[in-house]
Amino acid sequence: MRLLHGRPLAERLAARSRERSRALLGRDVHPALAAISVGIDPAANTYLQRLVRGGKAVGIAIRDISLPRDATERAVIAELDRASRDRSLHGILLLTPLPGKLDEGHLVDHIAAPKDVEGVNPYNVGLLLDGRPQFVPSTAEAIIELLRFHEIRLAGADVVVVGRSTVVGRPAAALLLSEDATVTIAHKSTNDVGALTRRAAIVVVAVGRAGFLTGDMISQGATVIDAGINMTPAGIAGDVDADSVATVAGALSPVPGGVGTVTTALLLRNVLTAAETQTAGG
Ligand code: NAP
Repeated sequence: MRLLHGRPLAERLAARSRERSRALLGRDVHPALAAISVGIDPAANTYLQRLVRGGKAVGIAIRDISLPRDATERAVIAELDRASRDRSLHGILLLTPLPGKLDEGHLVDHIAAPKDVEGVNPYNVGLLLDGRPQFVPSTAEAIIELLRFHEIRLAGADVVVVGRSTVVGRPAAALLLSEDATVTIAHKSTNDVGALTRRAAIVVVAVGRAGFLTGDMISQGATVIDAGINMTPAGIAGDVDADSVATVAGALSPVPGGVGTVTTALLLRNVLTAAETQTAGG
């Protein structure tokens, strides 16, 4: 079985980003991302640290804007509006999960579409569904880029995506459809997930349950992409039971070292695209 490692792709993306960021600096454009957080969530904080390290490596400044846990919706909107107007910021990321009382669906409306590098504003969601993706959630994009990088054929392939969240399952399914795959989406109300995944050439799993997909749920030689990141007593685990899946699959993305390795690089790439677009001709 082949392991679909993310690191070689992440390194290639970072090298290209360094070149693009140098070109921007040559025009006195200093690419910058606003990372807006509300309260301290450990997962969001870990991601922020990764972003800061990744940004430093490719020449993108990450401006950490932290609001207190009890910040009102109005205060968060004011910050998003301010960042949307600030010409020294090219991208805006609203870190999640948010404290319970805040309505994420409402807040993302206030991220200006040209700065919405994580593709959560309804305008960018609409473009994706229209088959004209511009900014796309980085985990979903990482799934497709990883498949492409490892030359897994998507056109005509039967793909099952397990999970339909707005940040992973849905956008991944939309991107796969744009690649001419035949896509089925499974979720909690799906009658028999295994019956679907056993018929698929490619299975993408994003459910948030360690060891969810087992070897008896896939066909011989299938490609399995594991988007899961679960904290278990034994450490980080994906949504795939790697031991049993490895005996049946033809290819599997490891956790850690697969999808998650690529997401930050793609988000940073989007910041450069945003900076280039916003400063073109200026
Ligand atoms: P989420 O918002 O909780 O969504 C989980 C999805 O899985 C839902 O659509 C849910 O169905 C479905 N699901 C849950 N249990 C199921 C079951 N027994 N059978 C079928 N479907 C089931 O999670 P998420 O944000 O998409 O994250 C999914 C995983 O990806 C997590 O492990 C998360 O840590 C990881 N993740 C990774 C990255 C990365 O950078 N690699 C980024 C974000 C998330 P319903 O819609 O019916 O509830």
